[in-house]
Amino acid sequence: MTDRALPKSASVVIVGGGMQGLSCAVNLALLGIRDIVVLDAGYWQGGASGRNGCLIRPGFGGHEWTRLFELSWREWTTLSRKLGHNVMFTERGYTMIAETGPSADMLRNASRLHREYGITSEILTPRQLSGVLPAINQACVTAALHQPRGGMAPHHSVMKGYLHACRKKGIDVRYRTAMTGFDMHDRSVRGVYVKDHLIRCDTVVIAAGPQSPGLARQAQAEIDGYMMRIEAMALEPMRPLIGPALALIDSLAYFHQTARGEVVGGTEVPETPQENLRADVPAMAAMARVYTRLFPQLADIRILRQWAGLLHISSDLAPLLGQHPRVRDLWFSAGWSYGFAGAPGAGLLMAKAIARGKVDEIMRPFALDRFEKGNPIEEAGVVMIKN
Ligand SMILES: Cc1cc2nc3c(=O)[nH]c(=O)nc-3n(C[C@H](O)[C@H](O)[C@H](O)COP(=O)(O)OP(=O)(O)OC[C@H]3O[C@@H](n4cnc5c(N)ncnc54)[C@H](O)[C@@H]3O)c2cc1C
Repeated sequence: MTDRALPKSASVVIVGGGMQGLSCAVNLALLGIRDIVVLDAGYWQGGASGRNGCLIRPGFGGHEWTRLFELSWREWTTLSRKLGHNVMFTERGYTMIAETGPSADMLRNASRLHREYGITSEILTPRQLSGVLPAINQACVTAALHQPRGGMAPHHSVMKGYLHACRKKGIDVRYRTAMTGFDMHDRSVRGVYVKDHLIRCDTVVIAAGPQSPGLARQAQAEIDGYMMRIEAMALEPMRPLIGPALALIDSLAYFHQTARGEVVGGTEVPETPQENLRADVPAMAAMARVYTRLFPQLADIRILRQWAGLLHISSDLAPLLGQHPRVRDLWFSAGWSYGFAGAPGAGLLMAKAIARGKVDEIMRPFALDRFEKGNPIEEAGVVMIKN
């Protein structure tokens, strides 16, 4: 908690200073909203926004995700200029690999869909893939979908860019400052508490990652979803081997090689939902198996470090975006499995909805009440275990 006194009022209080919270704050300021406060219980980059794989792609398997992430990808291409800080987004390409026939069919459908939205996306045979990835073991590949304009950005440079832009725009960002309760009137939020200090405000945005459902309950506002721990690891630096970012649909793995030469990635292993940040052996072993199958050259490379992060995952794996259907002025940007790639676009959509009172067509399907209305989103192109 900083020494500066907390303000007594704000127009918007955003709870959570990860990518989602900061992106929403910057976009609100760019739309002319003043007196924005961002509260974060932890340290800067302590949440999933400082622990992810840094992969970015415009296209998924279905319309809803593809429209959202294509918008976000367009934001990525101009984000450094928007924030006044180099976020180091590089379009190194993003290749999805199918190891089975059904996944190959899914990728073919996805590629057709991408082209409908003007996304450059091509299906490659194993032989064609070796043009993009000469080192890959072609025997593991049934088909691949290559999005040349996807890529990655180091999360530390992106978080720095967002924080820099917040500070320049006069947004009051506080780390180590947990929101502890709501001030409610009827079914409307009027402010938030930090211990016994009240910040009155017109709007509250919850972007608190895995803590979002718990905070929602404090306002008697249930939201869908559960907490999930996922893990990643980095190998020691080596010569350039892997050009594009990679995602394996069947092995539920994703990885890329950083500019420093480290191969960084993770894979999903079934486990009972956990709330701790301990990295463990099954995830490491599963990832090592994927690496050595696809790139046998990696067998001699040592593991440098391994870490875990916590996410809030919704029942259909898609984000929850918008105002709570039964609590006025309480908004959510939660349920994020791909919340790094999605942050620039989601922040823009959320800010427009709050500042202008009109929810964009791209954001509408992600409404919080889609489950009770029988409209969950179907998406086959995510690399994520469904519990
Ligand atoms: C290992 C791993 C790999 C990943 N790889 C990718 C990837 O390649 N591409 C991709 O798009 N996504 C990836 N993700 C997912 C992505 O990191 C998350 O979806 C995204 O960071 C979510 O951002 P967020 O701002 O919603 O949450 P977070 O970054 O978790 O931020 C939430 C913040 O809320 C704060 N908070 C909680 N409670 C309170 C409270 N009471 N008061 C105030 N603040 C509070 C926390 O301190 C935290 O800082 C990965 C995640 C992990 C863990």
